Amino acid sequence: MTLDLRRIFATDNSKLSIEGSLDMSDVDIYAGFPLKKPVRYYGAVVNESSVVTLNLKIDFEFTAPCDRCGVLASECHSVTIDKSLATSLERQESDTIIVVPDMQLEVDELVYSEVILNLPSKHLCREDCKGLCIKCGKNLNEGECGCDLSEPDPRLEKLRDLLKD
Ligand SMILES: [Zn+2]
Ligand SMILES: [Zn+2]
Repeated sequence: MTLDLRRIFATDNSKLSIEGSLDMSDVDIYAGFPLKKPVRYYGAVVNESSVVTLNLKIDFEFTAPCDRCGVLASECHSVTIDKSLATSLERQESDTIIVVPDMQLEVDELVYSEVILNLPSKHLCREDCKGLCIKCGKNLNEGECGCDLSEPDPRLEKLRDLLKD
């Protein structure tokens, strides 16, 4: 979606509402397609006393294997964009200003890059995911496996020795 902002820039105290969705299901990242549902966004461009600002909220659902147990899990995330819009940069580069020389805002491009930049670095099926047993590989969220973990894993011992130095 391309927003024509000429009327907004020309009219003090005007407002243009934005609402839409973007299909990002073809984004292939983390060995999968984590954005299965359309990304939703809504907000407005507002001209307040000749200062034009963009407020946009982006909601996306991230689906990927849990970092600890590997079970496929979905979690909703939100990104808020709160920036000024200007037709040129008077001073040096600023990351609080989006420059729109022709007063056209490519909303889809903006949403796309914001979502990519804000993909979660940590993804758990639940906050207290117990993960997998290091011995038998059982998913410990489903219950105890009964392994005796007091006898240390020789591989972990080696790692511990390395970390000691
Ligand atoms: Zn998990
Ligand atoms: Zn076990």
